[in-house]
Amino acid sequence: MSAMLDETRPDGVTAVVEAPHRERKCVVVIGGGFAGIAAARALRHADVDVVLIDRRNHHIFQPLLYQVATAVLSPAEIAAPIRQLEVKQQNLSVLLAEVTGVNVASRTIEASSPVVGARKIAYDYLVVATGMRPSYFGHDEFAQYAPGLKNLNDAETIRAKILGAFELAETTEDESERARQMTFVLVGAGPTGVELAASLAQMVKVTLRGNFRRIDPARSSIILLDAGKRVLPTFAESVSRKVAKRLERLGVKVVTDVKVETVDEQGVIVGGDRIPSATVLWTAGVAASPLSQMLGTKTDRAGRALVDPFLKVVDAPGVFVVGDAASSVKQNEHPVPGVAQAAIQEGRYVGRLIAKELKGRKVKRPFRYFDKGNMAVVGKNYAVLERGWLQTGGFLTWLVWAFVHILSLPQLQNRLRVQRQWLWSYFTGQRSSRLIPEPPRMPGADTR
Ligand SMILES: Cc1cc2nc3c(=O)[nH]c(=O)nc-3n(C[C@H](O)[C@H](O)[C@H](O)COP(=O)(O)OP(=O)(O)OC[C@H]3O[C@@H](n4cnc5c(N)ncnc54)[C@H](O)[C@@H]3O)c2cc1C
Repeated sequence: MSAMLDETRPDGVTAVVEAPHRERKCVVVIGGGFAGIAAARALRHADVDVVLIDRRNHHIFQPLLYQVATAVLSPAEIAAPIRQLEVKQQNLSVLLAEVTGVNVASRTIEASSPVVGARKIAYDYLVVATGMRPSYFGHDEFAQYAPGLKNLNDAETIRAKILGAFELAETTEDESERARQMTFVLVGAGPTGVELAASLAQMVKVTLRGNFRRIDPARSSIILLDAGKRVLPTFAESVSRKVAKRLERLGVKVVTDVKVETVDEQGVIVGGDRIPSATVLWTAGVAASPLSQMLGTKTDRAGRALVDPFLKVVDAPGVFVVGDAASSVKQNEHPVPGVAQAAIQEGRYVGRLIAKELKGRKVKRPFRYFDKGNMAVVGKNYAVLERGWLQTGGFLTWLVWAFVHILSLPQLQNRLRVQRQWLWSYFTGQRSSRLIPEPPRMPGADTR
């Protein structure tokens, strides 16, 4: 595929510049999430070299991350190696590297890989699909005490924190420390906060029942905080109300309209009051990956790149931004939501657009989002769905949710494994992924 040239940079580092073959153009896709993979796949029949770059070797099915964090599933069941796409797509190469810079004037990106170091890669078309990362609203110091949920490491960290808290509660002689270990605070009542809180509530009541001699996990406190007026603010108000009631019934205390002022080793301070908690989880804001800002174009408040209705970056020829990294395109006055379906549709659209342009055809139809509905699951047997005028919730919706998620998982073996785990967990209440890799530690404990 692409030719490589050596080049010495002003800082003395030898970089490798990959230039496209003379007769074949090169599309570089940054990000192997929903949007990036959809873009790369849409180019599979095009006469072009496609280079898909990700800093991880795997694609994650993020909608089920909360189940890894609450021990229902193991990491491998919701992820798949990106490299396996090469088997199915001859014109695709996958590169494990972190993209650290974009130069739209010279049409090159800079990528850094372990051992190889920095290299430049030339592109004819660039698709930026780098997604979002947790945002602590200017309080990055909260991150060390309150992990966000974005990747498999985060999910495993959260799982270890939750399971470790029960072990420490069982061990300590100090009543107030025991209460602190058994208090779980989730900051942010969007879909991730709601799903995580409900799953945790189920876990303490059912999965951990009878597992301890000195504590009763069912007496844990699970507190879901939000600065907004209601849970699930992107859903209709009636849906929010139903979900809040459901959460309360599961034993989750929902507190809205409050601002978290401090997060530290002892817990959180909210509205001047301290809530002692050993496990604070950040399920609130998100910000775009810094790459969107490197394109030299305007960004919105969350750092997402502004794009035109064709998802192109204005003043950056051949550059597109798709998925969560793009500032919402408006459709019928509503912004396209930052969800997996939108990312897939945007990626596919751009892939097809580039394929057409390569054939010398002009694309006149701007991107249109087809809304398949918005869902959230609230513990066992209950999910809500909103699609246009349709708002529904209950057991049947939950079955639909389960069916859709099984079908959407990457790899057939994951679908079969998740299906088996869910059935096991549904009928026994047990969760099979309950290992804590590192011993849990009390605050201030000697780690030598
Ligand atoms: C916990 C959680 C639960 C969710 N639940 C749902 C749900 O139930 N339903 C739903 O529809 N949506 C859900 N979403 C949202 C959905 O997952 C996102 O909208 C979707 O993943 C966006 O896809 P994307 O391709 O834009 O970004 P991502 O899927 O985030 O992929 C971005 C990729 O870019 C890579 N990357 C980033 N920066 C660089 C760099 N500099 N160099 C190289 N690679 C880089 C990352 O490693 C990653 O693989 C959830 C999100 C989260 C975090």
